[in-house]
Amino acid sequence: MPEPYWPKKGEFPLSRLNEHMQLVRVRCAYCKRVNHYRPDDLIQIFGDVDVDSLMLRMKCEGGADHGILDVKAFIPTGSEAVGLRIRRLAAIKIKRVPVWRDD
Ligand SMILES: [Zn+2]
Repeated sequence: MPEPYWPKKGEFPLSRLNEHMQLVRVRCAYCKRVNHYRPDDLIQIFGDVDVDSLMLRMKCEGGADHGILDVKAFIPTGSEAVGLRIRRLAAIKIKRVPVWRDD
């Protein structure tokens, strides 16, 4: 059997996208929301995980119950790159969780 050109599922970490100047397009089938992200922003949140695994890790900003998102890596072509809005990471909020003990 010939080896497929595209790496098999589970073999494409986000850091590989950085090397090829690719972006990540996330589409919600439920509310049709589409966002574009830079792989290095996603690495800060999820770590250098496989691109396909983001389908399950990411949640639609329109609602957590919108189901599995369509996540694809892509290289913006000339006309597409013009005016393409990229959703950048502004901040990561860290939740403070109290842990109690009895004295
Ligand atoms: Zn949605």
